[in-house]
Amino acid sequence: LVRLRARLARSQSALGRGLLTVLSRDHLEEDDWEEIEDSLITADVGVEATQVIVERLRERVRILGTRTVAGVREQLVEELTAALEPDLDRSLRTTGHEGRPAVVMVVGVNGAGKTTTCGKIGRVLIADGRTVLFGAADTFRAAAAEQLATWGERVGAETVRGPEGGDPASVAFDAVKRGIETGVDVVLVDTAGRLQNKIGLMDELGKVKRVVEKHGPVDETLLVLDATTGQNGLEQARVFTEVVDVTGVVLTKLDGTAKGGIVIAVQRKLGIPVKLVGLGEGPDDLAPFEPAAFVEALLG
Ligand code: GDP
Repeated sequence: LVRLRARLARSQSALGRGLLTVLSRDHLEEDDWEEIEDSLITADVGVEATQVIVERLRERVRILGTRTVAGVREQLVEELTAALEPDLDRSLRTTGHEGRPAVVMVVGVNGAGKTTTCGKIGRVLIADGRTVLFGAADTFRAAAAEQLATWGERVGAETVRGPEGGDPASVAFDAVKRGIETGVDVVLVDTAGRLQNKIGLMDELGKVKRVVEKHGPVDETLLVLDATTGQNGLEQARVFTEVVDVTGVVLTKLDGTAKGGIVIAVQRKLGIPVKLVGLGEGPDDLAPFEPAAFVEALLG
């Protein structure tokens, strides 16, 4: 929690400043509620979600008759945590199958942090005693396969690559095939995120998925989202959820943004469990997403 707090320092300051001033008062006046609202909107919780949260918060406070700082803060923590749907299953489906590895597909727009996230997940799994193979199915960006292979060397995973500009689906197929042959536990498939149009994306990702599924079902499809792109990024991301069956969200770059509240907007708008958060560029800067701890860290 201490580390999470440190990494969320910027979000805290955005959310915290307004809230702390409000919550340091003896009693809350009408204007104070607006200030709470502004703080949440500034932190990118989203207008609609903020209205719901503040409405419910006011109702809680009214029913409980509490207007003390501690009382309101406690209710706010509960309300924000509830908005994050704490009961969702956020575990990664990496158990694997008889004679076949678990397959995780990683999707998202270019620059969101897909390759980095593959590397970090590999690191976590390997530290947990699992064996991992990377499939570099982002064959469009010249440096992408190289970058993934570097992560592979760093964390101790083999990387299957194809020729530059080659067919992403065939690289994905070969990666899973190799994973079966070498008996690894998990194959992570990094994909390309060219969002030129929905049809192109649908064709490409759909094909990668179909081809991989010749070996067996994809266990997990993770959508990687850059927290710093805010509400616009969220709209873009929706296309992916229409194209592939996304089973989890990874929200990256939460360390670099004052808009940590975006997690609430993402959880609410996409309705898909946020499973992991990226808190930096290093191999250990990935954390499981835990709503209660996250809210505590966010409020500082
Ligand atoms: P991709 O195009 O989706 O594969 O994105 P990359 O994995 O290449 O990441 C794009 C940039 O974002 C790189 O410079 C990464 O180091 C950086 N990045 C990825 N995740 C995080 C994160 O959680 N925090 C920070 N600060 N940077 C990140």
